[in-house]
Formats: sequence, structure tokens, C-alpha cells
Amino acid sequence: MTLTALSPAQASATTRVRRLSGCKPTGRLHLGNLLGMIRPMLAAQYDTDSITMIADMHALTVEHDPARLREYVREQARVLLAAGIDPDRGVLYVQSDLPEHAGLHYILECATGYGEAQRMTQFKEKGAGAAGVRLSLLTYPVLMAADILVHDIDVVPVGDDQGQHLELTRTLATRFNARYGTVFTVPVGQLPQVAARVMDLADPGAKMGKTNDSAAGTIGLLDPPDVVRRKVMRAVTDTAGVVRHDRQGQPGVTNLLEIYQACAGEPGRFTSYGALKAGVVDAVVALLEPLQRAYAALPPQEVERILADGAERVRPRAAATLRRAGEAIGLRC
Ligand code: AMP
Repeated sequence: MTLTALSPAQASATTRVRRLSGCKPTGRLHLGNLLGMIRPMLAAQYDTDSITMIADMHALTVEHDPARLREYVREQARVLLAAGIDPDRGVLYVQSDLPEHAGLHYILECATGYGEAQRMTQFKEKGAGAAGVRLSLLTYPVLMAADILVHDIDVVPVGDDQGQHLELTRTLATRFNARYGTVFTVPVGQLPQVAARVMDLADPGAKMGKTNDSAAGTIGLLDPPDVVRRKVMRAVTDTAGVVRHDRQGQPGVTNLLEIYQACAGEPGRFTSYGALKAGVVDAVVALLEPLQRAYAALPPQEVERILADGAERVRPRAAATLRRAGEAIGLRC
């Protein structure tokens, strides 16, 4: 993956760099989301123009249930706010509240090659050849490009799986600017300083994920303490009997050690798997307790008000970008 440095103009404006993060409401948010996405978001919200988007349109690329999708959107918004997203500093909104995403998506599709979309590794892995694959699974990287470009974003935090899509965004922005006149800011990707990668407790070879949210291996951010305890105590370890950081040889134990360190803020010293697991339970429960308290105290109508306000705040710039792009490509907008 190529990640480019900030341009001098972007770097000199480091106080107010515009940054976009998003999450897909295909399930409940989990510990991997908290450590890998939400924490870096919180760290950046006071010295960047931070936009956080709940990407509900992206959740339509695979089999979905409309009522559950709406429920996940509401829940994720409430969890993000409870975790510390400050709507007075940054913007939190839902993608489909801003039709400019869909408008720019179409325009960018007209600057994307079919082969280019087909080459995306994620499409090849998740979709190519499978029965019932939605066309939107092929084109969603272009929607992702629209998400970023519509806001004139400078910096996009990217995990290892999204690097190729960010490169596509840069390619499309550069191509469009060269063909039709400068319309888009070309964004740069930023790898998180500490690349948290929380693995599934029951299958430490796989990333903890939200599509299997009832699974034993995923710690939900709203899981009560007894559920956290049960999942951690049943986490897969090994027969070596030694508490050692060894990602290859002892992936389960290493995952628990990393979770402990990320939650407790120190590496910890454990001489048995039982003590390690007990330490992880205490650290995770202590980390989630204030979030869960804030979640319970947040009225749903307040969440709705914040989301509506967020969409209104980003709308003028998004509408202006869409108008610029439409005019440049020859439309009458
Ligand atoms: P998602 O919408 O679940 O695909 O993920 C949203 C973001 O959360 C991702 O781009 C990652 O930055 C982060 N994330 C998801 N799962 C994990 C995980 N298991 N470990 C660390 N970060 C994760």
C-alpha cells in the first residue's frame, strides 16, 4: 500500500486538517472498533476538523434487513457519542442524510473503468463469482471515493484493508482534475500510530468482526460485565502454558496480552493463563463501564438531534463540491 505524505499546503494547515472516519452499520460495535477506530478518532477530534460518518449506504452492498439496519445506525450513533465523540468539536452524521454522496458516486462512476473496479482485492475476495452478489459490492469503492471527495478531505485514517480503496480515490480525483479542471482535493492516507488489530477470542487467526456479533469471540461495547467475563474466560489459548508475546506461536495468548495493554495502558505481568484472563476481564470491564453509563444516560431524541445537526453542518460544502463536479463534467447542475 502506498501512503503519501501530506502536501506542504496540507501540512502547514495541520491545525485544521479535515479528517474523515466512518463505520458501517452491519452489526454492533465491538472492542476492535473501539481500539482500532474510535480511539484514534477521539484523539484527533480536538486538533483536526473531524467528520465521522455512519455509512449506512455501504451496509446495503450485502444481504441486509431494513429494520435492523435502522436499529444499528441509531445504536452506533449513540455508542460513538457515549464513547466521547464531541458533536460540538466535530461532526457526526449518517451518510444517507446527505444525498450528495449518491450524486457524486454516479459522477465518479463515469470516471472509473470497469476493469479498475473489478481489480479491487476486496471484491475479488468477497464477491467475484459468488451467487446473488450485488452490483453495489463492485462499485462501493467508488462510493467510498465520493464520501471522501465530497467533503474535500485531507486525511483519511486507513487500516491495512482499505489502502487499495484510498489509492483508487486518489487516482479518481487526480484523473478527474486532469480531465475536467481542478475540482477535488486529493486526500492522503494515514496509518494509525499504533495499529491496533484485535483478534477474535475464539479464533485468534481472524480479526474480531461485527458481522458475527453474537459469536463468542467478539466483545460488544454494550456487553454487560458477566458476558465479557464469559467470553474472555472461554478465549482460546494453547497448551504451552507460558504467557509470552508470540503472534505466530501463541496467537490467542498474544491477543489477550495486547487487549490487556490497550485497555489497561500498561503491559501487565502474568504468570498463568487464568491470571491473564482475569486481568483482561477487569481491564475491559473498567474501560467499557463509563461508555455504557454514558450510553444509558443519552436520550435517543438527543442522538437524533445531533445527527440532523451534523448533516446540516456538512451539507453546504458537500453541495458545493457536487455542483462543481457536475458543472465540470458537463451536467446542468
Ligand atoms: P468495520 O465497519 O467494522 O469494518 O470497521 C470500522 C473500522 O474499525 C475499521 O476500518 C478498523 O479501523 C476498525 N476495526 C474493525 N475491526 C477491528 C479489529 N478487529 N481490530 C482493530 N480495528 C478494527
